[in-house]
Amino acid sequence: MSAPPLARPEARYADWLDATYAVSTLEAGPLEQVGGRGLAEWRAERAARTAELARLLPAIDRRALGAEDQRALAVMERTLADAPLAPAAETPGDSAARCNAAGSLGLTMAELSPALYACFEALGNRLEFEGRTIVRTTALELLQELEEPARRERLFAALAPLFRSINGDGGPASPYRRLLRQAAAAAAAPRASATGSDPVGDAARTVGSTPEAVERMLVAVLEAWRAANRGPALEPWDYWHHYAAGVHALDELTPAADIGSLSARYYHDLGADLGQLGVLHDLAVRPGKAPLAYTDFVRIGRMVGGKWRPAIARVSANVEHGGLFVLNEIVHEDGHAVHMEAVRTRPAFFALGDDLFVEAFADVTSWSVADPEWQRRYLGTSVAQRQGVGALFANVMLDVAWGLFELRMLHAPESDPNAVWTDITARYLDVVPHPQLAWWALRVQLVDKPGYMINYGLGAILTAELRARLREVAG
Ligand SMILES: [Zn+2]
Repeated sequence: MSAPPLARPEARYADWLDATYAVSTLEAGPLEQVGGRGLAEWRAERAARTAELARLLPAIDRRALGAEDQRALAVMERTLADAPLAPAAETPGDSAARCNAAGSLGLTMAELSPALYACFEALGNRLEFEGRTIVRTTALELLQELEEPARRERLFAALAPLFRSINGDGGPASPYRRLLRQAAAAAAAPRASATGSDPVGDAARTVGSTPEAVERMLVAVLEAWRAANRGPALEPWDYWHHYAAGVHALDELTPAADIGSLSARYYHDLGADLGQLGVLHDLAVRPGKAPLAYTDFVRIGRMVGGKWRPAIARVSANVEHGGLFVLNEIVHEDGHAVHMEAVRTRPAFFALGDDLFVEAFADVTSWSVADPEWQRRYLGTSVAQRQGVGALFANVMLDVAWGLFELRMLHAPESDPNAVWTDITARYLDVVPHPQLAWWALRVQLVDKPGYMINYGLGAILTAELRARLREVAG
């Protein structure tokens, strides 16, 4: 009997995926080798497999394939055409030059998006504050912690160069508005086409809904928050601290050096030993490093010699200052890592699934950080539930606001982003309007993957429901 028609191409595809993830791991630093091989070797392997697959896949007799194999072949072809890319480290000079290039008109989305992404490294991760240079994540943590309003306002002002690099003069030719128009066109293009990309539509489909209904859900969440949090309007630089002041005692108990091990202890107790699973933590700050926290494969899981060889995942983040906000972020990333280790499927289907579910699932664990029982167990003390949850949900509400912001911008790409953001934050979060300030430009995803924030905004509803259901079935 002959081998199944996809066996050989799919095995080569698995090699290609392993090589692709090894290359992006090594390009991101700081590892010198993956599986005993360096970057040049993996690049050569990847090129050889790409060429081999370009020969093998078109030669497959499609009529001989069953329905699942046909789907597997389609996924492999799509993934090869649009390879999963993780950000490579850049020299500080590179990212500054790329960021500057965002000003030139006529860039395609494929050029403009990485240019604006580079601004988050060149400017966002080099914020000048009180005689120090700090990364954006640290600034977000400090906005929760700093007691003096004047210091918070100065810190917020230090973000102005980043805001300017994304929003330019705010006019129709601003870098962000040029990007958004193209993202809106991609969302309107047929899904299966080469240019089609519709994150909001995808997220809505994941929950069997429509973008219109999703918009109503986001608004309902924000209205509930507003009803529960009446008070004098807050300056944007005071918003985080207003809700997070009550957890500050815990920030002191979560120094940067302990963040990774605190998260690992929690997952160990849940039955996932990150060390045994081989999860790599790359949490230190270094110049040129990717300016956002993310998790990716080092290699996929697959059958080798009749035995399952597990995946390896790595977490990249910029942890220079600890705190509960940063801890939450790393527990979220480790949630992705554990999800990656848990996937058991054939190489063609080796991915995490819908973005909405992926992000919502990682928050099932990260939200626990707000729970007094969790805090007593891992930090030795706790704050009142209302304070922990208030600090957490103040950030969740911003995610919902960003989700709504992108949904509306993509629906009406000629809108002024400052006006859209000011309307949402003033109406629902009670933030003092500053329509001249592009303070929405705090998140890398807005330029890296326009429309992606829906996965956190709508994902929050899914996270709440998953946590409620898990409590029901597992306690
Ligand atoms: Zn995530």
